Amino acid sequence: MQPLTQGVQDFQTKNFQTMRDLFAQLAQGQHPETLFITCSDSRVDPNLLTQTKPGELFVLRNAGNIVPPHGSINGGEAATIEYAVNALGVKNIIICGHSHCGAMKGLLHPEQLTDFPAVVAWLSYAQKTKQRVDEKYSDLPDGEPTLNAAIDGEPTLNAAIEENVLVQIENLRTLPSVAARVARGDLNIYGWVYRFETGEVFAYEPDAQRFVPLV
Ligand SMILES: [Zn+2]
Repeated sequence: MQPLTQGVQDFQTKNFQTMRDLFAQLAQGQHPETLFITCSDSRVDPNLLTQTKPGELFVLRNAGNIVPPHGSINGGEAATIEYAVNALGVKNIIICGHSHCGAMKGLLHPEQLTDFPAVVAWLSYAQKTKQRVDEKYSDLPDGEPTLNAAIDGEPTLNAAIEENVLVQIENLRTLPSVAARVARGDLNIYGWVYRFETGEVFAYEPDAQRFVPLV
């Protein structure tokens, strides 16, 4: 814990002093324009990745950046999204998967999850991802990049990471709060994959039906 305690002290004596006005302003209320849904993985840092400050991203994180579909679970995901969409009025939702995702590895290799019943239950909301990977990418040779996947290496895993972003966007659209705002045309939904080892971000391009470099 010592490094974390030291970190808090450094934050209070250094960083916070330069951001005092910002936090005073944020005490009056938050007005984030983007809900950022991503994995709990420690290698993914949404604010670092997007160079955003406190107050700019409303963040939802869980193993595998999963959004259970409407009515399937009374969980924190639907509540968090509902609040972001209806109370905060976010204009954008980004679902961001990432390279080397352990949740997606578990989805592809359930035989390795015998000691993780909670993980198995949670990954049931990504079973559609596994089905699509099995259907579309079953003939992928190991070590070859997929035609669809923008990330080299581990082709089946990378396909799962990308397909899962698309599946979770479909699930997101089943939530009534999201569906209503999408129908009104004032909510944008984006799918990203973050390759943390290079800093690259790939965004799903619906017209091309593939992930392409965001910048
Ligand atoms: Zn992950």
